Amino acid sequence: MQRFVYADNAGTTALSKTALDAMMPYLTEFYGNPSSIYSIGRKSKTAIENSRLKIATAIGAKTEEIYFTGGGSEADNWAIRSVAEKLSKKGRHIISTVIEHHAVLHTLRALEKQGYEVTYLPVNALGQISLDDLKNAIRDDTILITIIMANNEIGTILPIAEISKIAKERGILFHTDAVQAVGHIPIDVSELGVDLLSLAAHKFRGPKGVGALFVKKGIFLPALLTGGGQEKGRRAGTENVAGIVGMAAALEEAAANMDENVKKVTAMRDRLIEGLLKIPFSQLTGDPVNRLPGTASFVFECIEGESLVLALDSKGICASSGSACSSASLDPSHVLLAIGLKHEVAHGSLRLTINEDNTDEDIDYILAELPPIIARLRDMSPLWEDKLNGKY
Ligand SMILES: *Cc1c(COP(=O)(O)O)cnc(C)c1O
Repeated sequence: MQRFVYADNAGTTALSKTALDAMMPYLTEFYGNPSSIYSIGRKSKTAIENSRLKIATAIGAKTEEIYFTGGGSEADNWAIRSVAEKLSKKGRHIISTVIEHHAVLHTLRALEKQGYEVTYLPVNALGQISLDDLKNAIRDDTILITIIMANNEIGTILPIAEISKIAKERGILFHTDAVQAVGHIPIDVSELGVDLLSLAAHKFRGPKGVGALFVKKGIFLPALLTGGGQEKGRRAGTENVAGIVGMAAALEEAAANMDENVKKVTAMRDRLIEGLLKIPFSQLTGDPVNRLPGTASFVFECIEGESLVLALDSKGICASSGSACSSASLDPSHVLLAIGLKHEVAHGSLRLTINEDNTDEDIDYILAELPPIIARLRDMSPLWEDKLNGKY
């Protein structure tokens, strides 16, 4: 039987057994509405509050600083839109970067249509911003800085603590989209000094459709979703009890095994990078040092990323090109263009994202299967012929 290797963990992850086991009772016998006062309702309420404590503990927050959402996109939308709304009288300028996830980028674009002004900081070839650029971009009417902690396409980790310091010195709220970072690298919100932080369960082996926003004590955000009084009136809607319980179990598990997982996953990632960079005309994308443990991302010249992903799929390997969200469009991803890659090179991108579920055998299999696929695709490519003849 053909091997199956899942290497798209930045897209989503398989649910951990621990998370599933924790969730099951809340999908079956304990179905009570957490707002009800009878006992199975209270049981749900207690499960939510225990989960809040676990998540807070895992990221160095206080329980009352954790608000549950319907995922990473909602947390990003809530943070950005509510700060914009709340502080619109103070100013309408927001600072972000050109390598944000669409959940942030498209939210900012929507605010621009409402009259807000956004400065998108450029990045260098590694996907890093310049802190001087950030300082220079700050204005008297700047109300929010929102910067991704770890990029989902190239794995670059940004210096969030330093960015926080700059924001704090100027009295500006700072939000970070930490969806790719939480559960994969150690995170302590008080050490980082952030005001708002987004996370999503399905990126760290929790269930889909549930996430959280950390809101530092003392900050009062208006609700994005209005209705019932759940989440202290800040996020209406009957809670996703099982989802919340699963998220907490997955994060608790990830935090307990953090050191071991980082070591194991980094070693597998480095083996992938070393092996695949032996392919001619290949290049690593993102920061080689400040990099997510599980992200091995590349561009291969004279390769069409979509064809590569399909060829890998036929070998049982799940990978992605650019980002999953942009795979419906033919334009290369905004992130790959932002790090200075030419259009035709960016088209040949491949992202392999592994986690603690992967094994050394998975890596062996990818290293054996991928190079011949590249060679075969290039043999069929007119661009490759030109390249070999020095014409391209
Ligand atoms: C996946 C992801 C999101 C969106 O999270 P959802 O839970 O899928 O809504 C936001 N930001 C980053 C960096 C992500 O990787």
